[in-house]
Amino acid sequence: MAGMLYLVPTPIGNLGDISQRCRETLEAADFIAAEDTRVSLKLLNHLGIKKSLVSYYEHNKAYKGNVILERILAGETCALVSDAGSPAISDPGEDLVKQCAEAGITVCAIPGPCALVTALSISGQSTGRFCFEGFLSTAKKSRREHLEALVGESRTMIFYEAPHKLMNTLEDMAAVFGPERPISLCRELTKLHEEVVRTTLGEAIEKYTANPPKGEFVLVVAGAPETVKEIPTADDAAERVRQLMDHGLSRKDAIKQTAQELKLPKNVVYDAALNI
Ligand code: SAM
Repeated sequence: MAGMLYLVPTPIGNLGDISQRCRETLEAADFIAAEDTRVSLKLLNHLGIKKSLVSYYEHNKAYKGNVILERILAGETCALVSDAGSPAISDPGEDLVKQCAEAGITVCAIPGPCALVTALSISGQSTGRFCFEGFLSTAKKSRREHLEALVGESRTMIFYEAPHKLMNTLEDMAAVFGPERPISLCRELTKLHEEVVRTTLGEAIEKYTANPPKGEFVLVVAGAPETVKEIPTADDAAERVRQLMDHGLSRKDAIKQTAQELKLPKNVVYDAALNI
């Protein structure tokens, strides 16, 4: 009988955040697949767990994925951990989950630390609707294209960012979203120097120009304000029909076109245009 894949979240800074269930799963697994075996070994030593580790990371995942899959199909249980946080979220692991799912292997995700959820909850931004945008590209052109595609996004947007790329990202965001757009910069979450700066893109640029950023960041950017759509009135419809008729359209065609343009039912436009 096939084994199972467990996704085991690990602390994003505070070792106290490892849960009892995560410990037990790591202890019970036949082997642990880790993004960086040295990082995970430190955690396992802290927990007093001795277990066989295999590396599974971006550049060996195509080959190692198959090895792991075969072991699970042969009946072993694998616990997947990343360097920190929830495996498969901007981490290697996404592909392994797909591979296992396709092979009919049961995948169990244990809830736990995740940088994006921690940042969103503490951000002070709207949490009702949000989108996670992961890491922006290091290449300026694709970074700008990614941001430009989000110009009309009204949900709160969450990005992961490294400190050395933060200034370029803030400048591009200010150019695309405007310097007044609110942003919460969530830094070193759950660690000694945890900090949440709730400000605007323009002010964030000033702050970090004066004090270069350090540590890991999650950026939580407010969505674009919803634009209030004006509902066209009967007078608007009548006026547009009149204009179109002045331009030579028949009454019937002018009503049809006005209904399409103003997204009104044809009979409403017809009634509005009765007196023309
Ligand atoms: N899978 C992990 C998760 O969702 O929690 C994230 C892994 S991703 C490779 C690493 C990024 O997560 C960092 O560059 C940073 O943007 C964010 N991050 C991780 N730990 C953090 C922390 N303690 N404080 C702020 N951001 C953090």
